[in-house]
Amino acid sequence: MKVDLHNHTVLCNHATGTVAEYVEAAIACKIEYFGFSDHAPMHYDPKYRMSFEQMDLYELWVKEAREKYANQITVLLGYEVDYLPGYMDDTVLNRPCDYLIGSVHFIDDWGFDNPEFIGRYEGLDIDEIYRRYFTLVEAMAKSGKFDIIGHLDLLKVFKFLPTKDIRLLAQEALKAIKKANMTIEINMAGYRKPIAEPYPSPILLETIAELEIPITFGSDAHRSDQIGLFGDEIEAMARSVGYDKCALYRARDREMIKF
Ligand code: ZN
Ligand code: FE
Ligand code: FE
Ligand code: ZN
Repeated sequence: MKVDLHNHTVLCNHATGTVAEYVEAAIACKIEYFGFSDHAPMHYDPKYRMSFEQMDLYELWVKEAREKYANQITVLLGYEVDYLPGYMDDTVLNRPCDYLIGSVHFIDDWGFDNPEFIGRYEGLDIDEIYRRYFTLVEAMAKSGKFDIIGHLDLLKVFKFLPTKDIRLLAQEALKAIKKANMTIEINMAGYRKPIAEPYPSPILLETIAELEIPITFGSDAHRSDQIGLFGDEIEAMARSVGYDKCALYRARDREMIKF
């Protein structure tokens, strides 16, 4: 796989391995553009993310790796930022970097992708939860604060699936993403979860391709052995719906390259 823009570091407190180990794993799987996008700091749920004070250290690590491996791979600097109304900080949003991935991990105060809180799915109207989730994704696109949509249909992580057609549930969010000229990542982490398929699902990717929304790729690695895992599968899936180019970003500017 050629481009991989979604990878974490130990600073988020739920990943292991050094930045050098990640970059060396990326070089071994022939990745040409490798981006770190660790969980940005936030005054909410601080134990699963770096602190504001650690942003300098994070950026230093990434820039050191960029220089050290410059003749083997291009290392990019990003952040994965939570779309959580009331908790998005200009310190993060205005930080100079290559790109920001916007991710919805919370519906109100519920971290729905955290197995600790899986009990909260019980007794809920699942279609209503999907509607609320995609309303947040739509608002995230309309906010204009981010470059890339992280794991578009993350809510399926534990295999609680809607009874309504996912394409209808996601329709307004996809329109907003298209209008905002954002990129959607194909994220491999879903293969490692109960749902056992990428985000977004093949059926949603068909709609995304019809809308001609640019795509990129992400391992969402929290360990170096997750880098590039299922890379062939997601590139093949993208090709099967007509893509032959993917996006990368430098200094918040998008470039499209063949993959
Ligand atoms: Zn994480
Ligand atoms: Fe995420
Ligand atoms: Fe992530
Ligand atoms: Zn993620």
